Amino acid sequence: MYFVDVILPIPVENAFTYRISEAEYAFIKPGMRLAVPFGKSKIYTALAIAVHQVEPRIYEAKEIEQILDEIPIVNLAQLNFWKWMANYYMCTLGDVMRAALPGAFLLESETIIKRILKNDFEPYLDEIDEDGLTILNAFEGSSILRISEVMNALNKKKVLPSINKLIDLDLVAIDQEIYESYKPKLVKYVQLTSIYEQEEKMHEALDDLGRAPKQRELLLNYFTQKARSQKPIKAKELQKQSDATSSQLKALVDKGIFEIYKIQQDRISYSGKEQDQVKALNEEQARALTEVKASFNSHDVCLLHGVTASGKTEVYVNLIKDYLAEGKQVLYLLPEIALTTQLVARLKAYFGNQLSVYHSKYSIHERVEVWNNVLNKAPKAQLILGARSALFLPFENLGLVVVDEEHESSFKQYDPAPRYQARDASIVLAYQHGAKVLLGSATPALETFYNASIGKYALVTMKKRFGNILLPENTIIDIQEKHRKKRMTGHFSDDLLRAITDTLELGEQVILFQNRRGYSPIVECNTCGHAPQCPNCDVSLTYHRHRGQLRCHYCGYHIAMPQKCMACGSEELDTKGFGTEQVEAELKELYPDHNIGRMDSDTTRGKHGFEKIITAFEQGELDILVGTQMLTKGLDFRNVTLVGILNADSMLNIPDFRTHERSFQLIQQVSGRAGRTEKRGNVLIQSFNPHHQILQQVSMNDYEAMYKEQLEERHIYKYPPFCRLIKITLKHRDFQKIEEASMWMGQALKNVFKDQVLGPEPPPVSRIRNEYYRNILIKIPRKQSLEKTKKAILKVRTTFLSISQYRSVKIVLNVDNY
Ligand code: ADP
Ligand code: ZN
Ligand code: ZN
Repeated sequence: MYFVDVILPIPVENAFTYRISEAEYAFIKPGMRLAVPFGKSKIYTALAIAVHQVEPRIYEAKEIEQILDEIPIVNLAQLNFWKWMANYYMCTLGDVMRAALPGAFLLESETIIKRILKNDFEPYLDEIDEDGLTILNAFEGSSILRISEVMNALNKKKVLPSINKLIDLDLVAIDQEIYESYKPKLVKYVQLTSIYEQEEKMHEALDDLGRAPKQRELLLNYFTQKARSQKPIKAKELQKQSDATSSQLKALVDKGIFEIYKIQQDRISYSGKEQDQVKALNEEQARALTEVKASFNSHDVCLLHGVTASGKTEVYVNLIKDYLAEGKQVLYLLPEIALTTQLVARLKAYFGNQLSVYHSKYSIHERVEVWNNVLNKAPKAQLILGARSALFLPFENLGLVVVDEEHESSFKQYDPAPRYQARDASIVLAYQHGAKVLLGSATPALETFYNASIGKYALVTMKKRFGNILLPENTIIDIQEKHRKKRMTGHFSDDLLRAITDTLELGEQVILFQNRRGYSPIVECNTCGHAPQCPNCDVSLTYHRHRGQLRCHYCGYHIAMPQKCMACGSEELDTKGFGTEQVEAELKELYPDHNIGRMDSDTTRGKHGFEKIITAFEQGELDILVGTQMLTKGLDFRNVTLVGILNADSMLNIPDFRTHERSFQLIQQVSGRAGRTEKRGNVLIQSFNPHHQILQQVSMNDYEAMYKEQLEERHIYKYPPFCRLIKITLKHRDFQKIEEASMWMGQALKNVFKDQVLGPEPPPVSRIRNEYYRNILIKIPRKQSLEKTKKAILKVRTTFLSISQYRSVKIVLNVDNY
């Protein structure tokens, strides 16, 4: 008898074993997909990991349905990496598999629903019930959702009726296909028929077309393009260029002059401009490059600590060239692709036909294309640019990983499992491939800088901006005093307003930062003090003035802004605190003659949301850009000379051991957008706490002072890098149960780990989507075995789940949860 072990894309602990025939035994290789039955009637796409002849002892192996691949789509290096990840981040291989494979690889019968994206659900709001809304919200950024995820979101098993209602409204569709539905996209090209390639014939044709000017123009444009390059000519482009219709093009085909042919084209291909010249490095960049290269002789990981606008990108580019020339694959990790269209454009200009972008906002088909290109080592997939999920591509010959803006918190996946840190995981990935890692940042994560300072990583430093432009001049403005002296207009101090006016007068641009979206985070009754709360979460509702709504930023719940207090009926409603929408509104009154844009997650929905705003600002269509931390991610604008931070305190008050570090990074990065070329920039920071040490360190651009001070605190209070953290979160809809269950769990852990256990305690927002949350934190000293610690935690979890009244409590394990 023959068997295959498979991973299922669901959170079950172990691999499952299925029966196969002898012929299948000979055919199946690890990394191939199989369709297998599971449970009563479900079929899943599973991944083979081993074939053997050992019959499972505790259950009778079912037969597989089908083999879906002819060759493995996952290689052994990946399986190795998956195993490491499941083990390190305490999740199942199924969790990793689900995160790793593009959705199109995992279609399952009756188990996937698709969101029909062309339909905005706002107009149907009256017809969608609460469950329907929850389902639509559960899609978040992705376009597909598993039935099991729907069950989770609704917290019940019978979900089909609600799904059916959405299907009736044409908002979602069930995807029945078991087979991969990936179809390559065919693109139409035009060429001359062979008769007309003769010059004589061609002149004849041009003469004949005298009375069909558009057709003539099409033909002429065709020649111009041909003269310019030997590349195939796309029908669509030719048509557009000549401003012609498709029937005009067709007329030429009917006359036998043109013929149409189709080639399969990757959706993510480069438009074909000639490669730009790589810029010549200046002295500091050249030195940095040499040092990085030299460091790789002794270290696997190097930190490039270069101030904002020191020109780190050019250093990466030169290093990447070397690896590509050796025939190695290079992975370039970015925090969020959507925010870095500028960088993508820059790299495309250098590496055009060797570069592929892997992006979660692309359709599942596009992701499959990149996957297959990497798998087949296609020339166009030598350099992969991607956010954290690009780690999972089928590399076989990886030589270098560049992690740009390595301090960014979005490298960490918080939900769902695997809850991995892509920067850290990339170091493991590189190690498994014998590859090198270059981490780059102007404000390295504390742990990274620590690793560099103890010699675990190499360190290369760039202290000057490219072109020797000085770092921006930072000024802190005491708004407490400004309020007292009545020198505030709305949320602007007189100093900031003057600076904005001066900058605009010079025809330069301004960036204003406020780390909150919406108009105002709290609406409060002046009579009774009531503030509207979300019914599903423990937070107050944020006022969005433009939509006339109160919205919950955790679950999406929203209502129309009430005219009167919902508790006492008073009409005196007041708003507390302010977000980007309010800043924008105030600016519009203050500067009616200037164009003001806003960049936050409300204004950047959709595939090209960011691009539009960034381009408008780049092109000078906007004079002032107001935004949240989206503004900090490595944007490079040439004409921005002033950055204003409206309220630095809102960041400093978050209760977390990383708050100070994060605030420093955030403020440094936003101010780094000012004065990047030619002219020195100005940064004005408004604060009620002007003497706060972090603001002082920011204003001096003193990373090392921040580092020393924070490291000292981490040492005293036992936080990373001096210990590791594992956070355990318990969730349940029943308050009483969560109290008891978390106490039980806390005690059980304290029995093992004593005073290394903190909690249980409710997080700042302790109820989300009607589930109560409790956190328990375990601090693990460096010298304590991580392996044993995790085993002990898992043992406690097993015991916990064997207690019948706790079985329904959800447990989330988060390793390195920061
Ligand atoms: P960083 O990533 O360190 O913040 P960038 O790589 O974005 O800095 O470089 C900052 C600016 O300097 C960019 O506008 C870039 O085009 C320019 N620049 C950097 N290096 C060079 C070079 N060697 N030659 C010309 N311009 C450069
Ligand atoms: Zn009231
Ligand atoms: Zn809510």
